[in-house]
Amino acid sequence: MKIFDEIESEVQSYARSFPRVFNKAAGEFLYDEEGNEYLDFLAGAGTLNYGHNNPIFKEKLLEYIHNDGITHGLDLHTLAKGRFLEAFNEKILKPRRLDYVMQFTGPTGTNAVEAALKLARNVTGRENIIAFTNGFHGVSLGALAATGNSHHRGAAGVSLSGVSRIPYDGYLGEGVDTTVYLDKVLSDSSSGIDHPAAVIVETVQGEGGINVASAEWLRNLQTVCRKHDVLLIVDDIQAGCGRTGSYFSFEESGIYPDMVTLSKSLGGYGLPFAVVLFRPELDQWKPGEHNGTFRGNNFAFVTAKAAIDHYWSDDSLSKEVKRKGDYIARRLDAIIEIYGEGNFTARGRGMFRGINCVNGELAAKITHKAFKQGLIIETSGADDQVVKFLCPLVISDENLKKGMDIVEQAIREVCGKEDSIPEEKDYFEAQRLAS
Ligand SMILES: *Cc1c(COP(=O)(O)O)cnc(C)c1O
Repeated sequence: MKIFDEIESEVQSYARSFPRVFNKAAGEFLYDEEGNEYLDFLAGAGTLNYGHNNPIFKEKLLEYIHNDGITHGLDLHTLAKGRFLEAFNEKILKPRRLDYVMQFTGPTGTNAVEAALKLARNVTGRENIIAFTNGFHGVSLGALAATGNSHHRGAAGVSLSGVSRIPYDGYLGEGVDTTVYLDKVLSDSSSGIDHPAAVIVETVQGEGGINVASAEWLRNLQTVCRKHDVLLIVDDIQAGCGRTGSYFSFEESGIYPDMVTLSKSLGGYGLPFAVVLFRPELDQWKPGEHNGTFRGNNFAFVTAKAAIDHYWSDDSLSKEVKRKGDYIARRLDAIIEIYGEGNFTARGRGMFRGINCVNGELAAKITHKAFKQGLIIETSGADDQVVKFLCPLVISDENLKKGMDIVEQAIREVCGKEDSIPEEKDYFEAQRLAS
């Protein structure tokens, strides 16, 4: 369609990698206007953990709309909001013994990050925020200051202030615990790092290239924060809502962040929705001090509640994410065994996985070839060097295998090596027999 070239801004990004006109979607599939089917391993950059147009959520949403449920309500108490809060409290917070209050912000991730940073600064009376190398927290000014990527930062046009950068886990190589450095600079009044209000961290850096912080590093980070009376914010916008296997990505580490931001898959259906969770004693907002027209999206309350009821009433989805995540990891390991030796490394946790191809050119060749075979998969990282696997958590075993086969074939073609990779066909069957 010519109209996109004619009047849509040059700022487009994903549309450039996948130049088709899409008009339908279901589960792990997207369809273009000609009816071609694409397996979706991008999944709205982690927004579609439960697949496109999840039929369970769709039914609830249609019923709600049909009954003239509230669509827009500013921050009024609506039944839909109340029911979402009840479900979140009963099925997400209480079983995890997490004592948080919830703030509804504008509906995008960066809105939640802005609110978290603002509250942390107001509560502590300090300006500085510690963020990490390769971190991504959004592109509005406050959040952008905490984002590492120079391409995004460069677009600000003003100085991005109030943030100090510290090396993330693994940034200085294996065996270097960068929280020791953080502890040191916070202990030294001449370090040049002002006593911060908060540390903001992703447990797995999504846009930064699927960099995984170890559970031990996260615990050490929490210890350093508590020692220096600094708030710990986990930005769980991409890693949360089940992507790593548990509802919150920090559960495995056992830490208890002071604040948590959630968005992307929170609404369940791909509807815009974002919140900040924080410890009740931090709730020092004055009424209306931070506001926004679209605080809480009533449609998203309905689908978010449906997601919690259907997928988080027991641990079956968690188990599935771990099983499928292990499968992706095994497939990546098999690829690396053949093409590895400095070329590729695998990374990730749960179904938040990536393969580092060292340079962006190689990664782009792989994703480009994969797209020709009907697979939508993107790259991330400083040089777009990491092919990232973000398929819906609810993908069928068959389609997961199909997607991995396409990537494997693309790598084989790009690397020009014909050695066949050991067949993994029976992996799922063996899993089923074993369980
Ligand atoms: C996507 C993302 C954001 C920003 O969310 P938007 O909805 O794009 O503003 C912030 N933090 C993390 C970790 C993200 O992945």
